[in-house]
Amino acid sequence: MIIVPLGVASATPTATRHLSSVALWREGSVYLFDCGENAQMRMLQAGLKRSQIECIFISHFDTDHYSGLIGLLSTLQLQRREKKLTIVGPVGIKKFVEWNFDFANVDLSYPLEFVEVEEDFEEQRVLDEEEIFVEARPLNHSKFCMGFRFQEKDRPGKVDADKAQAKGITEDWQYKDLKAGKDVELEDGTIVKSVDIVGHPRPGDSFAYITDTRYCPNSVKLAMNTNVLFHEATFSESLADKAEETGHSTAKDAARVANEAKTKLLVISHFSARYTNQYVLLREARDDFFPTWVATELRPIFTDPAHEKGIIQPKVYLKEINTGTSKNDYKKRSNNITDKKKRFRKRKKHTDSKPTRGYRKTSRSSESKSYSGRSYRSDRHNDDNNNSNQRKPKPITPRTPFDDFDRF
Ligand SMILES: [Zn+2]
Repeated sequence: MIIVPLGVASATPTATRHLSSVALWREGSVYLFDCGENAQMRMLQAGLKRSQIECIFISHFDTDHYSGLIGLLSTLQLQRREKKLTIVGPVGIKKFVEWNFDFANVDLSYPLEFVEVEEDFEEQRVLDEEEIFVEARPLNHSKFCMGFRFQEKDRPGKVDADKAQAKGITEDWQYKDLKAGKDVELEDGTIVKSVDIVGHPRPGDSFAYITDTRYCPNSVKLAMNTNVLFHEATFSESLADKAEETGHSTAKDAARVANEAKTKLLVISHFSARYTNQYVLLREARDDFFPTWVATELRPIFTDPAHEKGIIQPKVYLKEINTGTSKNDYKKRSNNITDKKKRFRKRKKHTDSKPTRGYRKTSRSSESKSYSGRSYRSDRHNDDNNNSNQRKPKPITPRTPFDDFDRF
């Protein structure tokens, strides 16, 4: 499975972080955990198809965790989706969605199935499919909030083909039966036992999504022996009081859950806007649990990198959001431009009026920025001049024929 953080901010978006949402891709299906504002755009940028969403899990009713839901459902309607979509959330999620579409007088083209979870539950299997299931447990936040564990069911063990042949197994159905755990009777009456031919079942991968909670035993239960634990780390240890007061975790709380649950990889997210550098939080978590990563928007996390790398191709340059002014970026950009003179934009000619002092000042500062780093101003002027020397952003490729919005 591939886990793609779509938004890693807590409470409010910032210039570089979007609201909470994580996509999980598995065998061509996408499962969305929370759906903050912008989740659907971030999916596009991540290279994920919105039409592949099978199920959306809403952890709780803090607006930043579900504010993108109606927009996303509307897009699926415009894409003429017909496939069923399941929405899991606290009781009230059905009313919320249906009221919105009633209000707008929209009849959805696809069926919605709601799984509403009552507040006083202990543990519930909220989704059960042939190969996976999802379990929910209540967490400890200032309001009702639940965490999720996405679990692949154990896969049957491998059939030892040489052994099977030696015992007289020749037909496909015989192999299938053996794999399914059934013993097979040969024509001469010999019984070939499944346990002799098939190896041990292979354990499935697992992922836990735990956000908006103080440390609690249910987090540990959900995260037990997971491949990836995605846990909030809103505050650093110095603000532990604030975390307790607001019902959130510190980076050390996340590490504690990871340690107790013996997870393989901890990914921290849901950062307070006060941490412009989230590596402060990473350092604190790593002190207690070393295999910790910082969730970076659109950067995929693989449970099986050898087979999964390249399946999801982001449609945007991931670097632009966090960097752009580092020395390395400057060098790269300079190397792309062979003629050094071309690095300077020609001064724009103003025929109708004399530029004011104020304009000149702006113009100069934007020129100096145009090769030392991207800025809003330099982009704007470059657009005006249609300057072909500047690197153009990679366009987002339409993912389905229905993403061509000219149609509507
Ligand atoms: Zn939150």
